[in-house]
Amino acid sequence: MKTLRQVQQELGAGQFDFSRHAFRRAVERNISEQEIRDAGANAEVIENYPQDKYSPSGLLLGITRAGRALHFQVSFTESETTRIITIYEPDPNEWIEKPKAEVAMFDCHVCGHNAAKPELVSEVFNLEGRRVLVENIPALVCERCGEVAFSRETTEQVRQLVHGTARPVKTVPMDVFAMA
Ligand SMILES: [Zn+2]
Repeated sequence: MKTLRQVQQELGAGQFDFSRHAFRRAVERNISEQEIRDAGANAEVIENYPQDKYSPSGLLLGITRAGRALHFQVSFTESETTRIITIYEPDPNEWIEKPKAEVAMFDCHVCGHNAAKPELVSEVFNLEGRRVLVENIPALVCERCGEVAFSRETTEQVRQLVHGTARPVKTVPMDVFAMA
Protein backbone atom coordinates (compact mmCIF):
# COMPACT_ATOMS: atom_id res chain seq x y z
CA MET A 1 0.00 0.00 0.00
CA LYS A 2 1.27 3.45 -0.91
CA THR A 3 1.85 6.21 1.59
CA LEU A 4 0.28 9.62 1.18
CA ARG A 5 3.76 10.97 0.40
CA GLN A 6 4.15 8.55 -2.54
CA VAL A 7 0.73 9.51 -3.89
CA GLN A 8 1.57 13.21 -3.56
CA GLN A 9 4.84 12.67 -5.44
CA GLU A 10 3.16 10.69 -8.23
CA LEU A 11 0.37 13.21 -8.66
CA GLY A 12 2.86 16.09 -8.61
CA ALA A 13 5.08 14.36 -11.18
CA GLY A 14 2.21 13.61 -13.56
CA GLN A 15 2.34 9.86 -12.87
CA PHE A 16 -1.40 9.28 -12.81
CA ASP A 17 -4.23 7.97 -14.91
CA PHE A 18 -8.00 8.15 -14.72
CA SER A 19 -10.98 5.88 -14.33
CA ARG A 20 -13.63 6.47 -17.02
CA HIS A 21 -15.61 8.37 -14.43
CA ALA A 22 -12.70 10.65 -13.48
CA PHE A 23 -11.82 11.11 -17.16
CA ARG A 24 -15.33 12.36 -17.87
CA ARG A 25 -15.30 14.64 -14.82
CA ALA A 26 -11.90 16.16 -15.63
CA VAL A 27 -13.04 16.97 -19.17
CA GLU A 28 -16.50 18.21 -18.18
CA ARG A 29 -15.26 20.39 -15.30
CA ASN A 30 -12.19 21.60 -17.24
CA ILE A 31 -9.70 20.40 -14.65
CA SER A 32 -6.23 20.59 -16.22
CA GLU A 33 -3.28 18.25 -15.81
CA GLN A 34 -1.34 21.12 -14.25
CA GLU A 35 -4.11 21.78 -11.74
CA ILE A 36 -4.11 18.11 -10.76
CA ARG A 37 -0.31 18.12 -10.42
CA ASP A 38 -0.32 21.30 -8.32
CA ALA A 39 -3.22 20.24 -6.09
CA GLY A 40 -2.03 16.64 -5.92
CA ALA A 41 1.42 17.57 -4.68
CA ASN A 42 -0.04 19.25 -1.56
CA ALA A 43 -3.13 17.08 -1.14
CA GLU A 44 -4.11 15.81 2.27
CA VAL A 45 -6.31 12.85 3.14
CA ILE A 46 -9.69 14.01 4.37
CA GLU A 47 -11.43 10.63 4.36
CA ASN A 48 -10.27 7.03 4.27
CA TYR A 49 -12.28 4.14 2.93
CA PRO A 50 -11.09 1.39 5.29
CA GLN A 51 -13.97 -0.89 4.30
CA ASP A 52 -12.04 -1.41 1.10
CA LYS A 53 -9.59 -4.05 2.35
CA TYR A 54 -8.25 -5.18 -1.00
CA SER A 55 -7.75 -1.82 -2.64
CA PRO A 56 -7.65 0.92 -0.05
CA SER A 57 -8.53 4.32 -1.36
CA GLY A 58 -8.85 7.75 0.12
CA LEU A 59 -10.43 11.08 -0.55
CA LEU A 60 -7.86 13.84 -0.90
CA LEU A 61 -8.26 17.60 -0.84
CA GLY A 62 -5.68 19.70 -2.66
CA ILE A 63 -5.47 23.35 -3.67
CA THR A 64 -4.24 24.56 -7.07
CA ARG A 65 -1.90 27.54 -7.45
CA ALA A 66 -4.92 29.64 -8.44
CA GLY A 67 -6.65 28.59 -5.21
CA ARG A 68 -9.13 26.13 -6.75
CA ALA A 69 -9.98 23.36 -4.30
CA LEU A 70 -10.10 19.86 -5.78
CA HIS A 71 -11.27 16.62 -4.26
CA PHE A 72 -9.68 13.44 -5.60
CA GLN A 73 -10.48 9.90 -4.68
CA VAL A 74 -7.34 7.89 -5.37
CA SER A 75 -6.29 4.29 -4.96
CA PHE A 76 -3.46 3.52 -2.52
CA THR A 77 -2.83 0.17 -4.17
CA GLU A 78 0.79 -0.50 -5.16
CA SER A 79 1.18 0.34 -8.85
CA GLU A 80 3.45 2.41 -11.07
CA THR A 81 0.98 5.26 -11.36
CA THR A 82 -1.78 6.66 -9.18
CA ARG A 83 -5.27 5.84 -10.39
CA ILE A 84 -7.65 8.79 -9.96
CA ILE A 85 -11.00 7.18 -9.27
CA THR A 86 -13.01 10.37 -9.28
CA ILE A 87 -12.26 14.08 -9.15
CA TYR A 88 -14.40 17.14 -8.59
CA GLU A 89 -14.60 20.51 -6.96
CA PRO A 90 -16.12 20.36 -3.48
CA ASP A 91 -19.84 20.85 -3.96
CA PRO A 92 -22.72 20.19 -1.55
CA ASN A 93 -24.54 18.33 -4.31
CA GLU A 94 -21.72 15.86 -4.85
CA TRP A 95 -21.87 12.39 -3.36
CA ILE A 96 -19.17 13.11 -0.80
CA GLU A 97 -21.86 14.89 1.21
CA LYS A 98 -24.25 11.97 1.04
CA PRO A 99 -24.45 9.53 3.93
CA LYS A 100 -22.46 6.31 3.86
CA ALA A 101 -25.72 4.39 4.06
CA GLU A 102 -26.18 5.02 0.36
CA VAL A 103 -23.44 2.53 -0.46
CA ALA A 104 -25.33 -0.03 -2.49
CA MET A 105 -25.12 -3.75 -3.17
CA PHE A 106 -22.87 -4.11 -6.14
CA ASP A 107 -20.44 -6.44 -7.85
CA CYS A 108 -17.90 -4.68 -10.06
CA HIS A 109 -17.15 -6.62 -13.23
CA VAL A 110 -13.81 -4.84 -13.62
CA CYS A 111 -12.21 -5.20 -10.20
CA GLY A 112 -14.56 -7.46 -8.26
CA HIS A 113 -15.19 -4.92 -5.53
CA ASN A 114 -18.63 -4.97 -3.93
CA ALA A 115 -19.36 -1.39 -2.86
CA ALA A 116 -20.51 1.47 -5.05
CA LYS A 117 -22.06 4.88 -4.67
CA PRO A 118 -25.14 6.10 -6.52
CA GLU A 119 -24.72 9.01 -8.83
CA LEU A 120 -26.59 10.67 -11.72
CA VAL A 121 -24.65 10.63 -14.99
CA SER A 122 -25.20 11.79 -18.56
CA GLU A 123 -24.53 9.68 -21.63
CA VAL A 124 -24.54 10.39 -25.36
CA PHE A 125 -25.96 7.62 -27.56
CA ASN A 126 -25.45 7.19 -31.30
CA LEU A 127 -28.75 6.08 -32.87
CA GLU A 128 -27.75 5.23 -36.44
CA GLY A 129 -25.95 8.54 -36.83
CA ARG A 130 -28.29 10.66 -34.70
CA ARG A 131 -26.77 11.59 -31.35
CA VAL A 132 -29.01 11.88 -28.33
CA LEU A 133 -28.05 12.97 -24.84
CA VAL A 134 -29.77 11.51 -21.79
CA GLU A 135 -29.21 13.35 -18.53
CA ASN A 136 -29.71 12.33 -14.89
CA ILE A 137 -29.33 8.59 -15.44
CA PRO A 138 -29.04 6.76 -12.10
CA ALA A 139 -25.79 4.80 -12.01
CA LEU A 140 -23.55 3.06 -9.51
CA VAL A 141 -19.91 4.09 -9.41
CA CYS A 142 -17.48 1.49 -8.06
CA GLU A 143 -15.69 2.83 -4.97
CA ARG A 144 -12.54 0.98 -5.88
CA CYS A 145 -11.98 1.56 -9.61
CA GLY A 146 -14.55 4.18 -10.66
CA GLU A 147 -16.27 1.88 -13.15
CA VAL A 148 -19.84 3.01 -13.83
CA ALA A 149 -22.65 0.45 -13.83
CA PHE A 150 -26.30 0.73 -14.82
CA SER A 151 -29.16 -1.47 -13.67
CA ARG A 152 -31.28 -3.60 -15.97
CA GLU A 153 -34.31 -1.44 -15.14
CA THR A 154 -32.49 1.81 -15.87
CA THR A 155 -31.14 0.46 -19.15
CA GLU A 156 -34.63 -0.59 -20.27
CA GLN A 157 -36.08 2.78 -19.26
CA VAL A 158 -33.41 4.66 -21.20
CA ARG A 159 -33.89 2.39 -24.22
CA GLN A 160 -37.63 3.05 -24.21
CA LEU A 161 -37.05 6.75 -23.67
CA VAL A 162 -34.85 7.24 -26.74
CA HIS A 163 -36.69 4.78 -29.04
CA GLY A 164 -40.24 5.46 -27.91
CA THR A 165 -42.64 8.33 -28.29
CA ALA A 166 -41.17 10.48 -25.51
CA ARG A 167 -40.24 13.96 -26.66
CA PRO A 168 -36.83 15.38 -25.76
CA VAL A 169 -36.89 18.03 -23.03
CA LYS A 170 -34.78 20.27 -25.26
CA THR A 171 -32.70 20.27 -28.44
CA VAL A 172 -29.23 21.78 -28.37
CA PRO A 173 -26.51 22.17 -31.00
CA MET A 174 -23.50 19.95 -30.34
CA ASP A 175 -19.86 20.72 -31.14
CA VAL A 176 -18.06 17.55 -32.18
CA PHE A 177 -14.36 17.04 -31.51
CA ALA A 178 -12.23 14.12 -32.58
CA MET A 179 -8.79 12.96 -31.49
CA ALA A 180 -6.48 12.87 -34.52
ZN1 LIG B 1 -14.42 -1.74 -9.67
